[in-house]
Amino acid sequence: MASVTLLSHTPDPERAVAAAAKLCYSPASISQIRDGLTDEKTAGFVEMLAEIGHESPIEHVSFTFGIEGVSRSLLAQITRHRMASFSVQSQRYVREAQFSYVTPPEIAADDEAARIFREAMDRDQRDYERLTSLLRARHEAAFLAAGQDAKTAAKNAEKKAIEDARFVLPNACETKMVLTMNARSLLNFFRHRCCMRAQWEIRDVADQMLALVSAVAPHLFRAAGPACLSGACPEGKMSCGKAAEQRRRYAALKAGTEAAE
Ligand SMILES: Cc1cc2nc3c(=O)[nH]c(=O)nc-3n(C[C@H](O)[C@H](O)[C@H](O)COP(=O)(O)OP(=O)(O)OC[C@H]3O[C@@H](n4cnc5c(N)ncnc54)[C@H](O)[C@@H]3O)c2cc1C
Repeated sequence: MASVTLLSHTPDPERAVAAAAKLCYSPASISQIRDGLTDEKTAGFVEMLAEIGHESPIEHVSFTFGIEGVSRSLLAQITRHRMASFSVQSQRYVREAQFSYVTPPEIAADDEAARIFREAMDRDQRDYERLTSLLRARHEAAFLAAGQDAKTAAKNAEKKAIEDARFVLPNACETKMVLTMNARSLLNFFRHRCCMRAQWEIRDVADQMLALVSAVAPHLFRAAGPACLSGACPEGKMSCGKAAEQRRRYAALKAGTEAAE
């Protein structure tokens, strides 16, 4: 089960955006740009930017999330978002003594599918262990022969063995990451990943992220979510046809009256 935490963000994000925007439209000096930015004026500025599509001022605020309990499959999808910074737990350096994995809900809901899936995970774990010990023994002998002391040879052999053994680990393997995006990139991320066409796992993560940032900067993320929240669905024949339902759902999610799926 994916779990998302908002670790940190630019202080007073909406005022930071409004101040940057104010500079674009007024003769104010840098020392004056925050003057008179009441909550009401800040909200007005931020919403006006969204309406006219002036998005560069919202690049000045960033949000950092901790994401855990997600699969390597999700990792492949989320890291396609280039306007972001990632730190991901490495399978190269962290040994998977007993790897955790994510079971897709449709598989968990079917007894036979769940059994096949569990067997595959157990088999992968056994193969990983067998490969690790086989490679470790060979590397250890080579390191000892090259003159390393026993302790160093054992440590280096283990490290080198898991680097290659991890190739048998599955997409389902659980991972965790720290992710930072600025608000403009987040809007693009939500447009793509809150859409029903995105896969269930990344949609769940995107929904949790959206609920978290909406609590901190409600005006900035007022229109955030799938494209159908603010206009016609752009997905053509692939449309889920549930725009009205999506609008209701995201209004509730942002108001904090509905938990993420
Ligand atoms: C439902 C769905 C299905 C998908 N299926 C596939 C698939 O089958 N195969 C696949 O490979 N990917 C797939 N993707 C990934 C998708 O193509 C994008 O790579 C991903 O969503 C990241 O989006 P992005 O490029 O907008 O984000 P970012 O990389 O964060 O970029 C943000 C924005 O910056 C601009 N930008 C960034 N880099 C460039 C650049 N080099 N040139 C010009 N402008 C740039 C663009 O305006 C872009 O929207 C899928 C995504 C979704 C949501």
